[in-house]
Amino acid sequence: MDLKEIMKEAGIVGAGGAGFPSYAKLADGAHTLVVNGAECEPLLYTDYILLQREMPNVLSGIKAVLEYAKIPRALLCVKEHTAKRLHYTDGAKLAEKIFLKTLPDVYPMGDEISLIYQATGIVVKPGNLPITAGVIVYNVETLYNVSIMQKFSAKLTMKWLTIAGNVPQPIVTRVPIGTPIFDLFEKYSITIPEGHSVLDGGPSMGKLIDPQTAVVTKTTKGLLILPNETEAIVSKHLDGAKSIARAETACCQCTRCTDLCPRHLLGYPLEPHKMVRTAKGAVTVLPEMVLSATLCCGCGICESLACCQGISPRAVINEYKALLAKNKLRYVSKTDVEVMPEREYRMIPSEKWASVLGVQKYDKLPVFQGESTEFGRVELYLRQHIGAPSVAIVGEGDRVERGDKIAESGDGLSLPLYATISGYITAVDSEKIIIDRVNNNV
Ligand code: SF4
Ligand code: SF4
Repeated sequence: MDLKEIMKEAGIVGAGGAGFPSYAKLADGAHTLVVNGAECEPLLYTDYILLQREMPNVLSGIKAVLEYAKIPRALLCVKEHTAKRLHYTDGAKLAEKIFLKTLPDVYPMGDEISLIYQATGIVVKPGNLPITAGVIVYNVETLYNVSIMQKFSAKLTMKWLTIAGNVPQPIVTRVPIGTPIFDLFEKYSITIPEGHSVLDGGPSMGKLIDPQTAVVTKTTKGLLILPNETEAIVSKHLDGAKSIARAETACCQCTRCTDLCPRHLLGYPLEPHKMVRTAKGAVTVLPEMVLSATLCCGCGICESLACCQGISPRAVINEYKALLAKNKLRYVSKTDVEVMPEREYRMIPSEKWASVLGVQKYDKLPVFQGESTEFGRVELYLRQHIGAPSVAIVGEGDRVERGDKIAESGDGLSLPLYATISGYITAVDSEKIIIDRVNNNV
């Protein structure tokens, strides 16, 4: 089986992003593999711990991709503070064809387009895939998974994640995909204080979850417990409809949201102040008018830092994005863009960003807790990746061992799914498969 098939068959997705099936990124013609270890969201240290403990496996995953896709070099990109902790300097040779690249301690650096520019000096044309600029980007954990799946013919069953926020001690652990968050918190004696919410992901781009029902997925990079009054949580309650209504009366067109937008600063034709200005009419009348909304990376700078009127350009843009997706419209340009000279001094220092989100005081290095596999139940969603959902091939009452295939790839872009604990299938529907260690019906 070649590497692309191994990655597909193992069910590997981009470990921290939207869940793009990793095999589909492997293509000929790249000159650089950019390895994303930027970990640009505050409080998350999953990739740092992975690099600290598993560098040989990460490097072997990188080597496998370089060899398969005949890529001449790889840049392992980490922020300056991570490089310092790992005792690496910019340009250090980590292995044949693999070099370390330090990134400034600013937000956002993990955004693929910003990362590629910072690492290589190349700006991907707006709306195009990195491979059109000769670059493939994989997350550190994705490459660790490639190495493990290739060496041991293993399947993707485990997830590395950080648990942080208002907790006595942040931790990093490795647990089965599908583990209920409730069980996970119980295992580590983590309680959710009154007046706190839980995010799956970082404080800027994470999503609010219900810890009673949510589970670890293939893209869970961190779980954060934060007070409801922090900007990180308040911003999650800003919806597009409210922002559109507010925009019509409160926006003074100061353009700060555009001036600080990292995609705009890279030369992309994304101008959130104009989106806000045209809000209502654009959504209902002419979706093409707001096509450039698809260039937004969702960083939240316009919302949490730029706007002093309580408007969320990000939420307005999300409304546009939903409408454009429904109409299968997106911005794609064949023209090169020029990075704005102001970008250099308008990037947001990481510490400043953490303080804007109200999470700076929770920023502590985590303790690695090792791997935990003894959970009694997992719930595995059939849609944990972009593309067609997986298709269940098991039925209630079936006995499965950890690593057994329980769902096939759907048509087109898709991935299979594997049992992440040994046990009995206790429920299957169009959304998910549940496995319990003990079958109470038997
Ligand atoms: S920063 Fe706020 S007030 Fe200024 S243009 Fe943007 S949305 Fe309008
Ligand atoms: S969220 Fe706002 S600042 Fe960030 S890329 Fe989108 S429009 Fe720009």
